[in-house]
Amino acid sequence: MMLEKFERYPLTFGPTPIEKLERLSSHLGDKVTIFAKREDCNSGLACGGNKIRKLEYIVPDAIASGADTLVSIGGVQSNHTRQVAAVAAKIGMKCRLVQESWVPFQDAVYDRVGNILMSRLMNANIDMVDEGFDIGIRESWQKALEDVKAAGGKPYPIPAGASVHKYGGLGYVGFAEEVRQQEKEMSLHFDYIVVCTVTGSTHAGMVVGFADDGRSQNVIGIDASCTPKKTKKQVLEIAQNTAKLVELSRDITMDDIILKEDYAYPEYGIPSDKTNEAIRLSARLEGMITDPVYEGKSMQGLIDLVNNNFFPKNANVLYAHLGGVPAINGYSYIYRNG
Ligand SMILES: *Cc1c(COP(=O)(O)O)cnc(C)c1O
Repeated sequence: MMLEKFERYPLTFGPTPIEKLERLSSHLGDKVTIFAKREDCNSGLACGGNKIRKLEYIVPDAIASGADTLVSIGGVQSNHTRQVAAVAAKIGMKCRLVQESWVPFQDAVYDRVGNILMSRLMNANIDMVDEGFDIGIRESWQKALEDVKAAGGKPYPIPAGASVHKYGGLGYVGFAEEVRQQEKEMSLHFDYIVVCTVTGSTHAGMVVGFADDGRSQNVIGIDASCTPKKTKKQVLEIAQNTAKLVELSRDITMDDIILKEDYAYPEYGIPSDKTNEAIRLSARLEGMITDPVYEGKSMQGLIDLVNNNFFPKNANVLYAHLGGVPAINGYSYIYRNG
C-alpha cells in the first residue's frame, strides 16, 4: 500500500463500480472487451466526479491549516469548482470560486445551468472573470486569495483541477490500488486504462499507481486540453512529485506518459462532430452519458483506438468515466434533437 502514511478525509461512497460495456464492445466488433469504472458515481456530493477523489487527500491539509475558505478556479462550467463548492459545504467551510471564460461557447443558458447552478445553490461566492483557457496558475486566483485575506478570512488555495497541489496526485494512486483489488475479485486483468487528461493529476496519479505493477505505459491519456505539450509536461511533473511522495522504487520519465493528442480539436470545451457521435453512441448503446468537454473526447479516443487496432486482440480495456455530466446542460442547443 503506497498511501498508508497519508491522511484521507472520506468524501466518496467507497470503491467505484466497474461494469462491462457489452453492447459498445460488440458494436465495435468484439475485438476488445471494454469496461467502465464509474468515477462519475463515486459520491453523493453534488453529482461527484474525479475531483472528489483527489480532494479526499487535500481536505485534511486544509483543515489542519486552520482555513475557513476554500478558494479555487475553473471555467464557467467547471466540474472541479462545483466539486470544491460541495466539499466546502460538507466540511463547513466557505467557498470562493473564480470562473473564467475558458470556453468560447454561447448557449443562451451556459452560465446559468449545470455546474455553476449547483455551485451557486451551495452558496459559493463566485467571481466571473473574462480570461481565456490556461492550465497554469492565474492572477485572478491569486487576487481572490488576497481578497479573502483582506476581508479577515483564512483562504486555502486549491489550484485548477486540484492538480498542481502537493497532494493532487494521491487520489488516483489510490484508484490504481483499488483497481488491483477489483481485478482480484473479478479474476481478470485490465491491459489498458483509458483516461481523459487536462490539468494532469488524474493521469499522473494513475501512472504512479500503475508503475507499481509495470503498467504506467498502459495508462492511455486522451488529451482534451488542446494544449498537449503543456499538459504532458504538467502530467510528468505531477507524476514525479507524487512518485517521490509515495516513495516509488523507480523514477518516472517522459516515456511513462502516454498522451494521445488527436481528439481535443477544435479546442478545449468545444466538441467536434466525432465527439458528438461518440457521446450519442455511448448514450444509445449503454445509457452512459458523457459530456462534450472531457469524457465525450476520451470516449471518442477510445472508439477510434479500437477501430484502428491500437489495442491487441481480446485486450481488456478499462475506460475511466471521470464524471462531468452536469456540463452537458450548457450545450443544450447542440443536442436539441438528440
Ligand atoms: C477535471 C476533469 C477531467 C480531467 O482531469 P485532470 O486531472 O484535470 O486531467 C476529466 N474529466 C472530467 C469530467 C473532469 O471534471
